[in-house]
Amino acid sequence: MNKDIATPARTREILNKYGFSFKKSLGQNFLIDTNILRRIVDFAELSNETGVIEIGPGIGALTEQLARQAKKVISFEIDQRLLPILADTLSLYSNIRIIHQDVLKANIQHIIDEELAEIHDIMVVANLPYYVTTPIIMKLLTDRLPIRGIVVMLQKEVADRISASPGTKDYGSLSIAIQYYTKAETVMNVPRTVFMPQPNVDSAVIRLTKREKPAVEVVDESFFFQVVRASFGQRRKTILNNLISHLPNGKQQKENIERGLADSGIDSKRRGETLTIQEFAALSNRLVDIFE
Ligand code: SAM
Repeated sequence: MNKDIATPARTREILNKYGFSFKKSLGQNFLIDTNILRRIVDFAELSNETGVIEIGPGIGALTEQLARQAKKVISFEIDQRLLPILADTLSLYSNIRIIHQDVLKANIQHIIDEELAEIHDIMVVANLPYYVTTPIIMKLLTDRLPIRGIVVMLQKEVADRISASPGTKDYGSLSIAIQYYTKAETVMNVPRTVFMPQPNVDSAVIRLTKREKPAVEVVDESFFFQVVRASFGQRRKTILNNLISHLPNGKQQKENIERGLADSGIDSKRRGETLTIQEFAALSNRLVDIFE
């Protein structure tokens, strides 16, 4: 087996060889601990039949660990300066394809059709660039890709919000958006010391297992998410006041909103953060019917 990339000495050697300087604006904090990397890979439960989509390979620390377990790894990297480095560090692996692209602009379904056509088990595994964690996860879910799940490292604070339950301070529209599509768990906390350079936040690894169908049945998905976002508009306000202030034409629809809440058995004085995803679904399904 090749020498691991993710040790402090080898990472420094690679960075020096290429005179590479980190770009903070691209969220470049590389992992330098192979034990953490192996645990991330274990959480993804890969087999030699699995295709992996990685976002941001950096100098290839996680990529090589994935390539050892999976059938094929497709990895999106935005920073052109890393391409010659990756060609060198990953030269011994024939099952890795690096795509030089901003993942947020990529047509991932098209890449899956082209690169992973024969593969039926697809996982996303990454140490995400922290400045775009939420847009990346939301894109992966709303693009309705044929993936089994997502195992990613991100800021602990965002991991807490993603896996939060109703009635807690972290629960909000992000928890609901992600739990609508997946079962979300925080599987590991990670100290800042295992990165080069060290980020100024703590990190965690989450596992999102895609549901066969969304957690709740909604008549109009985009209206459901509008109701959820409006309900959390200002956390200290009641759900009624938030819906009036933040739904389009909310003021004119005041009576309909009151009726919708009553018909769904939701006290209009409750706060959005106390509602379960089932209650949000019932409410939005009722409101979509009676809104003018
Ligand atoms: N996987 C490596 C590791 O664990 O050491 C590097 C992870 S580093 C946190 C994030 C990586 O994502 C960097 O290589 C960065 O250049 C890349 N990146 C940042 N924004 C990106 C984007 N929009 N699309 C693709 N890659 C991006």
